[in-house]
Amino acid sequence: MESLPEEPQLAPEGQHPVPDEPCLASEEAALAHLLEHCWPGGRSFCPRCGGGRLYELSAGRWRCAGCKYTFHPFSGRWINNGNLTPLTWLRLLHMYAGEATVHTLAAELGLSYNAAYKAVTTARFAILAHAPDARQLLGPETGLGGYLKGKKLTGEPRGGGGQVPIPVFGILERNGWVFIDLVSGLSAETVFHFNHNFHLRIERSGNLVHTAPYRHYDALVLCGDDSLPYEYIRRRADGQAEPKSEFWKFAGGRLRAFKGVSPQRFPLYLKELEFRFNHRRENLFATLVRYLCDMVPDVPELDESRP
Ligand SMILES: [Zn+2]
Repeated sequence: MESLPEEPQLAPEGQHPVPDEPCLASEEAALAHLLEHCWPGGRSFCPRCGGGRLYELSAGRWRCAGCKYTFHPFSGRWINNGNLTPLTWLRLLHMYAGEATVHTLAAELGLSYNAAYKAVTTARFAILAHAPDARQLLGPETGLGGYLKGKKLTGEPRGGGGQVPIPVFGILERNGWVFIDLVSGLSAETVFHFNHNFHLRIERSGNLVHTAPYRHYDALVLCGDDSLPYEYIRRRADGQAEPKSEFWKFAGGRLRAFKGVSPQRFPLYLKELEFRFNHRRENLFATLVRYLCDMVPDVPELDESRP
């Protein structure tokens, strides 16, 4: 059983009135809205082979005439995780777009905390899967891909998530866009070494560590665990390592609120902030619905023999 971190309080309670979205009017409207995203224009296809010759079975299931696969419209998609009704999914995504906490989601939607947390985790995976560097982030450097078993999310990563080195991310903001890169080949220990021997400034807040500008990055950021030698951080008298960027103004407080997030799940939260910042002038709800209805990608094979 994974531990469920306390979600940060971002949105004030009670500020999520039922919105004026036609798809939120009823279960039927919600289902029709989701089906239109899965099968645009009503063109159904097999999620396994892509074939379009299908037989409709009972209870919303279909069978492919080509490969004989039996499925339903959400098979193989992110939204096929969590067992929520179409209307509950859409209401949850609408509130999540407005940064409702898991506690608020659970209370307002009549879900258990675990069910709401699992749905939000699914949304975060769907966001991450749409990032340009999704293949790298779902690869062996983070261990996140281990949470996927086939097309389904599991609560526990394959091969034990704790054995993956703590990844280091570089934040780069240019012309109002932010890019958060996984910096390959740079370990948390190396960042501490740079601090100690090359005077790279470091700030720590709980397990969250960020640095002053490094190479072309505005900051390096990582989420450590108790294995890191925090006492090794050398402070400098000439000011703080607070990056002066629009993204940091947007994300700094939110990042510090991610108390209790594990190093393994930290990339999900970082890519969520990247998504929220880069889409800050758009209708996040519409984008989230589209992402959730997309197919779960095949993750790269993990090398399970790694130490
Ligand atoms: Zn097929």
